[in-house]
Amino acid sequence: MNTDNNSRQQAGVLDVAIVGAGFGGIGLAIQLQKSGIDNYRIFEQAEDVGGVWRDNLYPGAACDVPSHLYSFSFEPNPNWGRLFSPQQEIHRYLRHCADKYLLRRKIRFSSQVTAANYCERSGEWHIELAGGEVQRARALVMAIGALNVPQYPNIDGMDRFKGKVMHTAEWQTDYELRGKRVAVVGTGASAIQVIPSIQPKVAELTVFQRTPPWVLPKHDRELRATEQLRFKRWPILQKLIRRLQYIKMESVLPAFIWDSVFTRIGEWAGRSYLRSVVKDPALRSKLTPNYSMGCKRVLLSDDYYPALCKSNVEVIADGVARMDETAIYSRDGERREVDAVVLATGFKVPVAGAPMPIRGINGRLLADDWSVAAEAYKGITVSGYPNMLYLMGPNTGPGNTSVIFYIESQIRYVLQYLQQLRKRPGSSLDVSPEVHRAFNERIQKMFQGTTWTSGCNSWYLTEDGRNSTLWPGFSWRYRLMTRHFSLGDYRLIQAEEEQAVAELNESVSVG
Ligand code: NAP
Repeated sequence: MNTDNNSRQQAGVLDVAIVGAGFGGIGLAIQLQKSGIDNYRIFEQAEDVGGVWRDNLYPGAACDVPSHLYSFSFEPNPNWGRLFSPQQEIHRYLRHCADKYLLRRKIRFSSQVTAANYCERSGEWHIELAGGEVQRARALVMAIGALNVPQYPNIDGMDRFKGKVMHTAEWQTDYELRGKRVAVVGTGASAIQVIPSIQPKVAELTVFQRTPPWVLPKHDRELRATEQLRFKRWPILQKLIRRLQYIKMESVLPAFIWDSVFTRIGEWAGRSYLRSVVKDPALRSKLTPNYSMGCKRVLLSDDYYPALCKSNVEVIADGVARMDETAIYSRDGERREVDAVVLATGFKVPVAGAPMPIRGINGRLLADDWSVAAEAYKGITVSGYPNMLYLMGPNTGPGNTSVIFYIESQIRYVLQYLQQLRKRPGSSLDVSPEVHRAFNERIQKMFQGTTWTSGCNSWYLTEDGRNSTLWPGFSWRYRLMTRHFSLGDYRLIQAEEEQAVAELNESVSVG
């Protein structure tokens, strides 16, 4: 570490401030430590690590990516209990990572970041915490995840409802659903997990579907003790399985992304699966999607369709009309008395930006720059916001594979960025506006002709139909693109204080 970095550290300035202790923040912290960068902190608003896997406590919450692939490549877990892990196991895994790599001493829990401002004078980020404290840092890494702001639907009369209303992302574990009459609004990835989990215990379950999802069987199962033992003995075996799972998931992309013969084959598989489980033609017709497979996230489940066939379940196929003090109404005006309403209505994504104000050069506000659609260079850096880096930023969501693969690609890039920064004390790196613009134009062109823009309404798209959420291609392309950090893409900005010192030194030496 050079003298400048030392003196900053003594002045309480962090090399890196990370916001969020989920997969992104934990993964980056481990790699920072491995590369000798110790002057960092993670600011976490909750009291534990885990991000979405700490927060999403709804019954049945699980991952639809196989466990071996949904974990860090550098921290395999031979003890995964299922092919697809439930929420508790993934949360446990992240806690294990935090403990094993002694990260907790670096995490400030219950520390909510309320604002972040780039200071041009010092070239530092001033990070405001709830309570008024300001932490200075050279680089700011936003590892807050993409799915962190629950989307509450605007249902007429919901505020008057006297029963329980719960969003899947803000589940109240102390509320007992047993024996209750429950309505679930939404049929996305969260809904198809919560519905089969609560169906056996509730008295009545009314599912308000707006758009039927494409569903394929998950083929989930327990991993046997003998398999776990084999993974422990021969870690190479687990690596091999992870590789095979990656290849398998990558190979389905052509069916989901480009409307092609592969899409038709996928749709045929989806319809066949539906036919094999749902024998009632009226219910089957309600559940049959009328848009191209892949346009919305393709869902994997072994128990969703079977649950919908049970006698205590009714599917309303045209969404919710309104609510009153004790009931929920379908659009045909039919009133259903319910005790609880579960909102499985997803998250605010494409224009969410960050849940706190972030100000860059000249006080520009990220929420304004992203008011139409979020944009970043390689999903990581944003022009006008020097030394701010995003993990899981715009256009880096996977439509078909593990998000951890993307996070690890970004971490490599961020490490190279930070190494360049350390070589240039007193300077900031700002991705040039032309590079930023050209990249995003190229990305949007790549979306043309994909199923995502084929006409369905999905959270992937902004109101004007722009996709600022997903990566439009194979994940290995993203890995290749983020493999090397090119300084040429960035403007070097010298902090005003440094400039003044340099000018003073110059005038002294001339004098
Ligand atoms: P989602 O996929 O956005 O689904 C929201 C559901 O609510 C949709 O069915 C939507 O209908 C419906 N909806 C929204 N507003 C509504 C309204 N006003 N009235 C009636 N229905 C309404 O949200 P999610 O299920 O929470 O999943 C979000 C993302 O989280 C997923 O795409 C995935 O990336 C992630 N996730 C992953 C897993 C996993 O296994 N890895 C599990 C859960 C979630 P429309 O379809 O008509 O819009």
